[in-house]
Amino acid sequence: MSAFRMLQAIAGHGWRSRSSKPAQNVHISKPASGFSFELTDEQKEFQATARKFAVEEIIPVAAQYDKTGEYPFPLIKRAWELGLINSHIPESCGGLGLGSFEACLITEELAYGCTGVQTAIEANSLGQMPVIIAGNEQQQKKYLGRMTEEPMMCAYCVTEPGAGSDVAGIKTKAERKGDEYVINGQKMWITNGGKANWYFLLARTNPDPKVPASKAFTGFIVEANSPGIQIGRKEMNMGQRCSDTRGIVFEDVRVPKENVLIAEGAGFKIAMGAFDKTRPPVAAGAVGLAKRALDEATKYALERKTFGKPIVEHQAVSFMLAEMAMKVELARMAYQRAAWEVDAGRRNTYYASIAKAFAGDVANQVATDAVQIFGGNGFNTEYPVEKLMRDAKIYQIYEGTAQIQRMIIAREHVAKYKA
Ligand SMILES: Cc1cc2nc3c(=O)[nH]c(=O)nc-3n(C[C@H](O)[C@H](O)[C@H](O)COP(=O)(O)OP(=O)(O)OC[C@H]3O[C@@H](n4cnc5c(N)ncnc54)[C@H](O)[C@@H]3O)c2cc1C
Repeated sequence: MSAFRMLQAIAGHGWRSRSSKPAQNVHISKPASGFSFELTDEQKEFQATARKFAVEEIIPVAAQYDKTGEYPFPLIKRAWELGLINSHIPESCGGLGLGSFEACLITEELAYGCTGVQTAIEANSLGQMPVIIAGNEQQQKKYLGRMTEEPMMCAYCVTEPGAGSDVAGIKTKAERKGDEYVINGQKMWITNGGKANWYFLLARTNPDPKVPASKAFTGFIVEANSPGIQIGRKEMNMGQRCSDTRGIVFEDVRVPKENVLIAEGAGFKIAMGAFDKTRPPVAAGAVGLAKRALDEATKYALERKTFGKPIVEHQAVSFMLAEMAMKVELARMAYQRAAWEVDAGRRNTYYASIAKAFAGDVANQVATDAVQIFGGNGFNTEYPVEKLMRDAKIYQIYEGTAQIQRMIIAREHVAKYKA
């Protein structure tokens, strides 16, 4: 069945049966090599499927998940059934093998529904990406393959209580003992930490402080049920409250040497390299949130009256909406460019950081403006925009803070002049 027919079937017949596997053998054409703002029919189908899911399934329950902090597994299961999660797992492992561009289109729509749900889903991509870019065939089939057989989570374990931005400062260590490595240390702020089936974990394997980061760390795949793993309590965060964020302690955790990615010493580059692929979808998530804030604020401005007319007719309000619209459009173009570079097979570090930094800032500015347009109601939990403002903040923090993105952009920019 062609990709278009397959997607038509998905869109036309509603949700796939709960017991069915994600669609197999769907080949999606790469984006056109020329300059075009037109989405392909397949991309439109994915976007429409994700949008329908967000509007009909996520939005009606998002406030309740935010209130309770309960993990949205029923929604994740539905997203899995629809092929809206793990979309970049290669076809050779039973996945859809979609491009970054398509994954980002889906992410924007899911985030429009609720970014707590989207972050829980996106954390799978972050956990999987080191295995996609650096895993051997056996590792990919085993760990990515199992995620196509049933809805399942994984996580990316790099940050520690003492080191986030300064990744080279992590203290978790792995010591080789025969055919195994023994891991000891503590990770912090791990999304899906309590829900994951397996982790990508970065640990120091060379204790010599003079050895450069590019050689001192190793990336491991760790089964979450390994003896010695203690999962901490679910953290109560400002926003995206249904996402599961935890600290994890590793005490004498034994990992077979077969679970080393590439080789001892290659971990830092793998962990950092994953971000080039995951920052475009994070930026897409921020755009989804900003678009939702813009939509909510516009609808409200058309209805709310002051001084005898809808507030949208006060120029100060309509100009705010215009500014918000400008930001949403430009942030979307930024993530699409960053994703397009990935699919074109080019190094996209510069564009990924621009997209992530810009979209993260835009999400915060637009959500704050939406609260302003709602007036007193904007400050209240009965209306949707206070959640958007709380949820937006994390986009300036995780996957590299707003400051770290600027450092990367400056480095990449200046390097062009020095070359
Ligand atoms: C909800 C949530 C989910 C997360 N999920 C994950 C996950 O799944 N996996 C994972 O590994 N991590 C995860 N993180 C961790 C996240 O990536 C880090 O919090 C982030 O990278 C910042 O690190 P930090 O908290 O240690 O802050 P710090 O690095 O201590 O930074 C503190 C402040 O100083 C600034 N700063 C630091 N260094 C510089 C510098 N050189 N120049 C200028 N400013 C600087 C920062 O921008 C920031 O404003 C998550 C965090 C949160 C809150």
